[in-house]
Amino acid sequence: MNLEKAQSALQHYFGYTSFRPMQQEVVKSLYQGKDVLLLMPTGGGKSICFQIPAITMEGVGVVVSPLIALMQDQVNNLKSNGINATFLNSTQTATEQRLVEEGIYDGKYDLVYVSPEKVVSQDFSALLSRIKVCLFAIDEAHCISSWGHDFRPEYAQLKFLKQHYPQIPIIACTATADQVTRRDIIAQLQLPSPNVFVASFDRPNLRLEVRSGTRRFEQIVNFLVEHPNQSGIIYCLSRKSTETVANKLIEKGFSAAAYHAGMSAQERHRVQTAFTKDETPIICATIAFGMGIDKSNVRWVIHYNMPKNIEGFYQEIGRSGRDGAAANTLLFYSLNDVMTWREIIENSEQREIWLAKLSRMQQYATSMFCRRKVLLSYFNEDWRSNCGNCDVCDNPPNYFDGTVIAQKALSAIYRAKEQIGINLLIDVLRGSKRKEIFEQQLHEIKTYGAGADLSFEEWRYYLEQMLEQGYIDIAHDDKNKVKLTKLSHDVLFQQVKVQLVKMRTAQERKEMEKEKASKEAAAVRHRVRDDLFEYLRNLRRQLAQLEGMPPYLIFSDATLEEMAAMKPITEADMKAVAGVGALKWQKYGLQFLDAVKQYCKENNITPPERRSAPKPSSAETIDRISTFQMTYQLLKEGLSLEEIAEQRNLKVGTITGHLLKLKNEGKDIDFSPFVSPDIQQKIIDILPTLPSPPSQKDIFLALNEEVPYYKIMLTLAIKALQE
Ligand code: ADP
Ligand code: ZN
Repeated sequence: MNLEKAQSALQHYFGYTSFRPMQQEVVKSLYQGKDVLLLMPTGGGKSICFQIPAITMEGVGVVVSPLIALMQDQVNNLKSNGINATFLNSTQTATEQRLVEEGIYDGKYDLVYVSPEKVVSQDFSALLSRIKVCLFAIDEAHCISSWGHDFRPEYAQLKFLKQHYPQIPIIACTATADQVTRRDIIAQLQLPSPNVFVASFDRPNLRLEVRSGTRRFEQIVNFLVEHPNQSGIIYCLSRKSTETVANKLIEKGFSAAAYHAGMSAQERHRVQTAFTKDETPIICATIAFGMGIDKSNVRWVIHYNMPKNIEGFYQEIGRSGRDGAAANTLLFYSLNDVMTWREIIENSEQREIWLAKLSRMQQYATSMFCRRKVLLSYFNEDWRSNCGNCDVCDNPPNYFDGTVIAQKALSAIYRAKEQIGINLLIDVLRGSKRKEIFEQQLHEIKTYGAGADLSFEEWRYYLEQMLEQGYIDIAHDDKNKVKLTKLSHDVLFQQVKVQLVKMRTAQERKEMEKEKASKEAAAVRHRVRDDLFEYLRNLRRQLAQLEGMPPYLIFSDATLEEMAAMKPITEADMKAVAGVGALKWQKYGLQFLDAVKQYCKENNITPPERRSAPKPSSAETIDRISTFQMTYQLLKEGLSLEEIAEQRNLKVGTITGHLLKLKNEGKDIDFSPFVSPDIQQKIIDILPTLPSPPSQKDIFLALNEEVPYYKIMLTLAIKALQE
């Protein structure tokens, strides 16, 4: 097999011009029949690595995946790109499964997604022995390791694949990076000498930001106002707070919902579907949310509380920006959350490990250095330069020599015999008249009042920094008293210097916020989240509604951004946009071309100079006639809606959309033949029982989902015309 074939399949089906560096290497290995272990972060592009070989090699690619809830989505996604894919799992009836199996025998599919239970079953073994398989892909391969958190017993049986089919290459994929798991996967699957690929865990499109956890809700509202029309997840610690936050957001007029394990499966499913379809763009969830969701246009993730370790945090923020377009992550940090976690961990089995992990998380949250450095160093990646896409890089801290400040504090702690907590310590330093001070004779120590020049807030800020740098410690097991450390002695007695970060005044902070807001606004413009992007997004939403599917299955946000930037007006230009493959072009290309042209015309914009000289091909001619015109022509030829849809390879709902637009433009079209009078009546009759104005969805549900959307649309249009 040669890579050219892979390359052209990538372009044809997915609309991408090139592989990411590691993808190409993986594809090459599989073509050569080598086993592969692939470690890549979520969103890194693992799927393409086995999908392209499966499509281009002879035989079917069998993908084992534990995420049953996701299979349908994954398969739909592949189908929307014109790829023959299917799935087999226990959610299907016996008859459905038999049908799929027959299709596999007949060689109808390039890819089959199978649950672990199914793969290890008797009947699947029988099937395997009679078909040609080109590769096995083991997705979420860390489930094989009992070290990991998602151990699945069936995965441990997967060694039979290599034993029975030594010639068929296996690719094991995971986003979990640690060494133990890595070794375990190779051993359990009995891969003799796999090619191991470890991708960088960096996700450069994710902006990293941490803010203090005071007045979180207010900060969230401001954030949402600054990021309108975007979809995101707010992670909370408790079920109760998911509900409180969601309700408060709804009160403020945002479209939000809560999601947690205490809700019924049905309710969770409903919330999740509304989220993927962008109907409820904001979800307040416990960590359970996101596992089974393949939504590429999550634009931000907010942590209302600090997670207990970096693995979890990274997985959660990793759910944003999977399409590669810019995304924001925002973590609220408060010492209270740290205390809560400490209490929870206190009684757990592997207390030491959990505490160490918690402290790494805290280190990220309080870092005075580029946050990406902290994050990637956790995953053992050596990251030298500052990332330029985190809050610390944006506002580098202002260091100063804080030795004198530190000495005053340490001396007070020393003289108070390490018997006081942080607040009392600050009061001593500031010379407070609090009665405990006199009761404990703390006013007699030498440093009493020596730090009166600093505010309580400043002292707290500097002491926390000293804590983070190890100059003091807090005895959590002794009423949180402040203790000295080895480093404290170095400062007190060895003239070791202490660097601190200057606290900004309220005025400075205000100015920073202002500057940041304007920078962000500029960056947003720069990223072509402009009016044209919104225009295209709107079109995408309408099409998605008509077809009853999630918008990102039509085009991803990244694809729309590129379209908005390139303003394609010819077929060749449109096809050059990443994410516009052959089938997507066929189904939606003309509509989006029209939208771009329309937008440019309305706004007097000359599209940028084209890279490709316009060729007068037949496609080009079609391109000049709009997609609406084509529908209109077929309509005039007397075809029914279904026939037009069939001929144009579009959904009936889409064709209906064309009719409405044509009618709007003054074309003479009679809608009544398309909906029988009694259905029209049925729809009209239900209207008074619904909230006004009723949405198409309300009507659809009220009629027991029996009347298709397009008939509802047409009836409403007929009614509107009569009024
Ligand atoms: P993972 O399975 O590792 O989480 P995916 O396979 O879902 O990642 O890919 C993440 C996103 O990146 C998807 O939107 C995918 O279409 C896109 N992508 C993958 N490979 C490429 C590529 N070579 N060029 C452009 N986009 C790509
Ligand atoms: Zn940075």
